[in-house]
Amino acid sequence: MGKLEGKIALITGGNSGIGLATAKRFVAEGAYIFITGRREAELDAAVSEIGANVTGVKGDVASLGDLDKLFAQIKREKGKLDIVFANAGITPMTLLGEITEEAYDSLFDVNVKGLLFSIQKALPLLSDGGSIILNASIVASKGFANWSVYSATKAAVRSFARSWTSDLKERRIRVNALSPGYIDTAPWHSSAVTEIRENIESSGSVPLGRFGTADEVAKAVVFLASDDSSYITGTEIFVDGGVAQI
Ligand code: NDP
Repeated sequence: MGKLEGKIALITGGNSGIGLATAKRFVAEGAYIFITGRREAELDAAVSEIGANVTGVKGDVASLGDLDKLFAQIKREKGKLDIVFANAGITPMTLLGEITEEAYDSLFDVNVKGLLFSIQKALPLLSDGGSIILNASIVASKGFANWSVYSATKAAVRSFARSWTSDLKERRIRVNALSPGYIDTAPWHSSAVTEIRENIESSGSVPLGRFGTADEVAKAVVFLASDDSSYITGTEIFVDGGVAQI
């Protein structure tokens, strides 16, 4: 029997990286999942890769209209949700002297507004005693050059986890933040960050000495989604090889 047998879960940004790795683990543990993303081809490929017990819904978390359609579909098809992993996010560098209004707006639109309304609109469907996991980042608690706006969005996410724990206590819904460190997903394969990546790998700044994998993060999400973490709420779990602690 899987740890998520009979559960209905939503993973925003489930068509690649951490979201896709989590989607595979959720299904392996017995859940039925809805995954979202803006890129239709990647969404279709993810649904085929997962194989069963999955529905892909194309949409932008920053669009309230898309979110309304998403939750209407979940209501129609399954009638409830037990787990929401708010994972969709963008991670562009924002050099302090070069931050544009457009870059600022898009980071806050996706990482903060998109996450907030994904949760707000999930609430009517979410079971009492359900689990919400918010994908934050170690950047919320450490200072990293060149990522200040991204870091600010993730600090907001961490703060949401604490506040919503109180907001949702009558319904015993657990809310936790997940803070990955350097995880080997597509954004780290961009040529814009090659030098930064090489510096991280050679500087010894990761106590465990390497980037993490998306699946190593997914295992922690399963823990937070399942009854294994039944007395854990309002906190933050680091999956970072120790980076945030030194
Ligand atoms: P990916 O780029 O592989 O995944 C990002 C996911 O978010 C994709 O599925 C993407 O789908 C989706 N997404 C982005 N914007 C939107 C949007 N507007 N609406 C709906 N979906 C969207 O990278 P990761 O797996 O690394 O990132 C996942 C999360 O993990 C992010 O929140 C990121 O901040 C966080 N994180 C990652 C770390 C790392 O080192 N990799 C470290 C700490 C946190 P699509 O493009 O099709 O919309």
